Parts: sequence; C-alpha cells; structure tokens
Amino acid sequence: MDEHSPYDETRRRLLGAMVAAPFLLSGSQLLRLGFGATVQEGTALSPTPQCGDDDDDPTPAQTEGPFFTPRSPARTSLLETGLKGTKLTVTGMVVTRNCRPLSGALVDFWQADDAGEYDNKGYRLRGHQFTDAQGRYRLDSIVPGLYPGRTRHIHVKVQAPGKPILTTQLYFPGEPRNARDGIFHSALVMKMAAEKDRRAGLFNFVLDLA
Ligand code: FE
Repeated sequence: MDEHSPYDETRRRLLGAMVAAPFLLSGSQLLRLGFGATVQEGTALSPTPQCGDDDDDPTPAQTEGPFFTPRSPARTSLLETGLKGTKLTVTGMVVTRNCRPLSGALVDFWQADDAGEYDNKGYRLRGHQFTDAQGRYRLDSIVPGLYPGRTRHIHVKVQAPGKPILTTQLYFPGEPRNARDGIFHSALVMKMAAEKDRRAGLFNFVLDLA
C-alpha cells in the first residue's frame, strides 16, 4: 500500500496548489490540465474504446525498469527547446473493465530521448497528468530512441484515485526489435497514424476495476 502514497501526495500537492494559489498556474497551463478541448486536435484517431470486444481486457502490467524517477512535473507536453527527434502525440482514455471512463486518473510518463538516453538527474522527458472529465489524456513528446537490449517503448504508470498503480510500457507497431525484446507485449502496441509533421499514437488503458 505504501506505493500509493507518492501519487496521493502528488495529487494533494497539485490540488492544494490549484486551490490555494491558482495564480501560480498560467491560463495555458490550466487549459492543459483541463485538456478536453485539445485532446482530439489534429488526429483522426478516436480514443473511444470499443467496449464488449477484446479491448476490455485489463492492460497488462510490465516492469518499471531501472529509470523511473518519482515526483515528475505536472505537464502534458514534454517538448522543450533543443529536444531532437520526431514529434509524437499519444492520446487515449483510462477506463475500467466495463469501459467506464476514469476522470482524475494519474498518468505518469517517462521515456528515453532520441539518442536512447534517459535523464536520470532531472526530469527531461518525464511528466504526469490527470485524465479529464471524460477520462482522456494527451501526451506531447518525441518518438523515443532505441537503447541496447530493448525495442522502442514509453514507460507509464496509471492510477485511478485511491486505487493500485498500474506500471506498464507502450510499444510501436512495425518495430524490427519488437520480436526480439523479451519484455515486449503485443497488447501494449499503440495504434499509430502518420501526421504531416509527427506520429500520433492511440492507447486506451483498461484498469482492473469494475
Ligand atoms: Fe526503458
């Protein structure tokens, strides 16, 4: 149960900051936190889950790996000046087994940069957010680079309020290394669409909740 506490703490701190000192968040940050208006912008992929088929199996858990850093910044975009690589958006929903959208669910991403390196001193390419009222999230980032022994992947922790943490990873379709990575799981492959200037991934997290 101890592993829930950092997230509950993060949530309390975030909500506390918003209530006590809303002026600390700019208008655009507030817009990002309530990002419902922009979640489908520029992508033809619909996050609406196909309930009643195989998609309602709970999302499998995966190893956290060695590079998780707690207390990532609250942000939906990991893009920053000087960051190299192909832009990537990942959108989707967090839902229960019965396809009930989970609002206020924590989604915490971390990933390697274009050269396959993690920032283990700071928070580059690390960030958490909470799903909106419809259970949606949106990540703006880059396509992670490859590093020895692994196929291309993004790490993520997902937690509905007060519920256990799901730690897992997302994968890219058509990657030559998928077949040779012992951690790779086909149920964790994003649906991808090619955009003009970036790649767009879709993935719905199904938590093992009723
Ligand atoms: Fe990794």
